[in-house]
Amino acid sequence: MKVTVLGLLAVWLLTACHTPTKEKSKENAPYLVVLSMDGFRWDYSNMYNTPNLDSIARVGVKAKSLIPSFPSKTFPNHYTIATGLYPEHHGIVLNTFTDPAIGDYKLSDRKAVQNPDFYLGEPIWVTAENQGLRTACYYWPGSEAPIKGVYPSIWKKYDATVTYENRIDSVFSWLQLPSGIRPHLILWYFDEPDHIGHLEGPFAKDTKTTVERLDSLVGVFCHKINQLPNADSINLVFLSDHGMGQITKDKSIALAEYLHEDWVESIRGGNPLVMLKPFEQYTDTVWSVLSSIPHMKVYSKETMPDSFHYTESNRILDYVCVADSAYALFWKNTHFVNGGTHGYDPSDTDVHAIFYGSGPALKEGYVSESFPNVDLYPLFARILNLEPAETDGSLAEVESVLKN
Ligand code: AMP
Ligand code: ZN
Ligand code: ZN
Repeated sequence: MKVTVLGLLAVWLLTACHTPTKEKSKENAPYLVVLSMDGFRWDYSNMYNTPNLDSIARVGVKAKSLIPSFPSKTFPNHYTIATGLYPEHHGIVLNTFTDPAIGDYKLSDRKAVQNPDFYLGEPIWVTAENQGLRTACYYWPGSEAPIKGVYPSIWKKYDATVTYENRIDSVFSWLQLPSGIRPHLILWYFDEPDHIGHLEGPFAKDTKTTVERLDSLVGVFCHKINQLPNADSINLVFLSDHGMGQITKDKSIALAEYLHEDWVESIRGGNPLVMLKPFEQYTDTVWSVLSSIPHMKVYSKETMPDSFHYTESNRILDYVCVADSAYALFWKNTHFVNGGTHGYDPSDTDVHAIFYGSGPALKEGYVSESFPNVDLYPLFARILNLEPAETDGSLAEVESVLKN
């Protein structure tokens, strides 16, 4: 997108040279629009043609990669991006889990997804709303529940059938609302290229086509934003929750081939990460069987790597099994075809994600080192001049992307 230096300077001078009233200062507050493209692997821009993202990196910033939090699954990571907390602290420890007091949580269960009791921490839209900034979410995990009693000013029930073009039009129309009711923070979501990545893997022709289509949509969106009279005050971020690893049928582990079903009280998760709770009398047996299975690791709360930050929640079951890179892991492998998955150790670059951004708060033509996604909440709070809640992230590693 084109943001002229003169234009930016003019906006800066205008805002710097007078003392606005409180209400006026809200209207003059910066804008931040964050699009998540699910499963957009960090190196798709090296493998495929992504001229629009490349041009955002040229006029703005890009991270070498965005490091997901463990487990590198969709809901845990979107909610980490929103709160700056590791899943063990924000409570969305997997896409599917059970809270001993509240019950089952899963993506397809509307009642669960809309129950605020599942969500700990403070998402950035709640921070913003509480500090007088209007916000909008178009399908961000967590945004359908009144967390701490607060909804985004605009939010929608998840409906995967709404076209991306329609979502672009809605977000664009929100940015044209009268300034008093216009959202200053917008978080929105595309479910590709995750879906095609699962079906066909990150290196497939259809994945290339999907990635290139998404890049064109990014171009269409930036072009529209550039038409707005206040384009120079809008920061745009394009990111993803995790990447995608290639898996093949010959590298697949089914735990049920090693463990008796009646040794195990509960099982949660799915390829390539399964957590389970053995019945008390089988604790040692299950541990020793799991420890002997090749091409995967099993962790208890005592042996969990510190870098996973994945012990401090009673929603995490006793044993967490994670496949090695490029391996698939299931309880029962019934209908597995070659394709892709994610959920692996965040140090595996296959699951690294993207971060691109441009706008008045961000440097021009700057490539940062990889940074963890817990740092995004502090970054977003700084861009929006918000007093941040306490998080697991810090500005230290990401502030190099900011101007000044
Ligand atoms: P996964 O690849 O299993 O980690 O999850 C990706 C899937 O999550 C997407 O294909 C969507 O179907 C689903 N999903 C993403 N956002 C939402 C949402 N806000 N509500 C319900 N399901 C969602
Ligand atoms: Zn995802
Ligand atoms: Zn996925």
